Amino acid sequence: RDAVLNRETGSPVEVFCRLRPLPEGECETCIKVLSATELVLFSPEGFKNGVVKESHYEFSHILTDCISQKAAFKELCLPLIDDLIQGKSSVLFTYGITGSGKTFTMMGPLNNPGLIPRSFDLLRSDRQNGYEILSESDIVTERSRKEIFSKGQRIKAPQSKQLREDARGRPYIKDVKEIEVRSAEEAIELLNIGLKRRRIAHTQLNTESSRSHSVLSLRLVQFHADIPPTSLTRDDLTVSQIHLVDLAGSERVNRAKTAGDRVKEASNINSSLMVLRQCFETLRENQAQGINKMVPYRDAKLTSFFKSYFDGEGKIRMILCVNPAVDGYEEIQHALKFGDLTK
Ligand code: ADP
Ligand code: MG
Repeated sequence: RDAVLNRETGSPVEVFCRLRPLPEGECETCIKVLSATELVLFSPEGFKNGVVKESHYEFSHILTDCISQKAAFKELCLPLIDDLIQGKSSVLFTYGITGSGKTFTMMGPLNNPGLIPRSFDLLRSDRQNGYEILSESDIVTERSRKEIFSKGQRIKAPQSKQLREDARGRPYIKDVKEIEVRSAEEAIELLNIGLKRRRIAHTQLNTESSRSHSVLSLRLVQFHADIPPTSLTRDDLTVSQIHLVDLAGSERVNRAKTAGDRVKEASNINSSLMVLRQCFETLRENQAQGINKMVPYRDAKLTSFFKSYFDGEGKIRMILCVNPAVDGYEEIQHALKFGDLTK
């Protein structure tokens, strides 16, 4: 089994880096972009005493702070939506510390939408433009909004979501509903309901979204317009999925002022992100050396849910989000090491 390259496309796992503009009031950056794929990180000491300590990192592509949401979509997500329509599946993660631009990239503000609303829009406009294979009534999209909470300790806290496998060995999350929608508008409406619930849940539990992963799964079911719906069989269907994952903040526990439950929660989150890193590392290692080492996706629920992708059955993309302000140096270094190709 080819766990290294995507079976259908032969494309490697890709890691992109997106830099956000410096927050207001910050004027010093610790990052210098050298080319479309390389950047340098300067240590803060280098700023203080003139000793230049720098480290190089390389990615599939770097999106600088002046890249628009539209351009980011084109680069990061459009090829995956094209794949989806072609019947191929993929998963796209945003990774980075809190405040680095993960949610801005995935959702974006209403007046400057990110990857998720743009994906929905594209599925809609594609159909309007007639470059589709299906007519309006023959397309069925399903989406479900899932949040894999860490184990809550309080009475009303959400229980850790249970990951199960169906008869064909495909993972699903217990008690998560899949809802069928027939238009992009319906999907967006559902998404908004999901987001609202999520906000309420977080307010009630006094937690922030930075400490849970958020998964949006869109499944596209296609069939030919000339087959009457009543005589459809499973073989007539082309099913593909895209998962858009806004990960919990990657900042490590020891730095945060956490106590009790929060430490537990934070260490759960951190261990799932650690396993995710190890999975990527193994994939990269396999890729670079042409070997087929076992990817340790079983070690966390987050990665088990995406096991087929780690087994090579679809594209995996990672977007590392980075706030280049100097005071975040250590966490930036930790994040950048994730996708670095120079290793
Ligand atoms: P995260 O989800 O990683 O915690 P957010 O996406 O919430 O971070 O971003 C933190 C802040 O930075 C938000 O106010 C957001 O609007 C802003 N921001 C992030 N990325 C960009 C960007 N590329 N351009 C402009 N503003 C951004
Ligand atoms: Mg966020």
